[in-house]
Amino acid sequence: MAKRDYYEVLGVSKGADESEIKKAYRKLAKKYHPDANPGDKEAEEKFKEVGEAYEVLSDAQKRAAYDQYGHAAFEQGGMGGGGGFGGFSGGVDMGDIFESFFGGGGGFSDIFGGGSRRRNGPVNGSDIQVSLTLTFEEAVFGCSKEIDLNVTDTCDQCRGTGAKPGTQPETCTRCRGTGQERVVRQTAFGAMQSVTTCSACGGKGKIIKEKCTKCGGQGRVRVSKKIKVDVPKGINHGQSIRKAGLGEAGINGGSPGDLYIEIRVMPHKQFIRNGNDILLNVNISMVQAALGANIMIPTLEGEEVYGVKAGTQPESKVILRNKGVCNVRNNKERGNMILTFKVSIPTKLTEKQKELLRNFDNPDADTSKDEHKGFFGKKKK
Ligand SMILES: [Zn+2]
Ligand SMILES: [Zn+2]
Repeated sequence: MAKRDYYEVLGVSKGADESEIKKAYRKLAKKYHPDANPGDKEAEEKFKEVGEAYEVLSDAQKRAAYDQYGHAAFEQGGMGGGGGFGGFSGGVDMGDIFESFFGGGGGFSDIFGGGSRRRNGPVNGSDIQVSLTLTFEEAVFGCSKEIDLNVTDTCDQCRGTGAKPGTQPETCTRCRGTGQERVVRQTAFGAMQSVTTCSACGGKGKIIKEKCTKCGGQGRVRVSKKIKVDVPKGINHGQSIRKAGLGEAGINGGSPGDLYIEIRVMPHKQFIRNGNDILLNVNISMVQAALGANIMIPTLEGEEVYGVKAGTQPESKVILRNKGVCNVRNNKERGNMILTFKVSIPTKLTEKQKELLRNFDNPDADTSKDEHKGFFGKKKK
């Protein structure tokens, strides 16, 4: 089924602001909510579609990606959701390497939370993105790196409860843990009942009498930590590695977010990487091109002898099979190395070299005698 435009799904304009999007989402989520439409498959689909649209349009980064690339921004390039990439030894699940930050994301599992989530229920932690710059060789051959992270973690003193060790948060007596209270007001039309956030616990459903001293009752603390990252060989500029569960801590038992490490690769002095192929310009002289020669060329494995064929043309290319970069997905296939011959034409020649070249160009003429006579000289004779 072709995906509908997210703006169209929510019925908002491209320029809609956050609150318009939220409002539209709430309205539609309520309309199509499974509780309101038991057994209605179409409503269920609509509900999912609305949730997915909201997840993207409510997140500034995802929305920007969507505006630029459309649905393609979130497709995983046929990678599936991990699995199926067995035999990998780099310590990273193959499903964890993405063509871009937005390609991964672990799907839309959380969309049902958006509008109907109770404030005292679990809230999942956010994903974090960091970038990691590698040399050309580190990307090609793989490496192990440490990165510094500044992240919100579950408080280890209270284990996330926010209560002083030895005490427990108590269930709010006013709302009996629901986080909501019913208020009945007398109006001209009679008694009106409305549901509001509990005024005693602020909607958390629990009251902390004695707060944890480390996190001040938040249950979470900012921590700096070092993360070891095994970068698989063959990774390329712009790809990301996902480390599940290393993002921000969740709240009230929610799962932590994921960490996305976006890879940047510095250019190499000689090699140019094109996917898994390596492009190399090889400078040879006019004579080497004409006669052929054994020359040294750099490869990923070091210098190698290469036999230039006699009659090699300027800009001609030669493909050296399996001399490229290892495929990051299967760690087996390799790309190729593609040589482009740059033939240099000499600019400074001695008289002797000039004479040789003239002889070469016109082997039947005896240029040594009437070299300086030119056309008229020859004619007079
Ligand atoms: Zn604490
Ligand atoms: Zn309460």
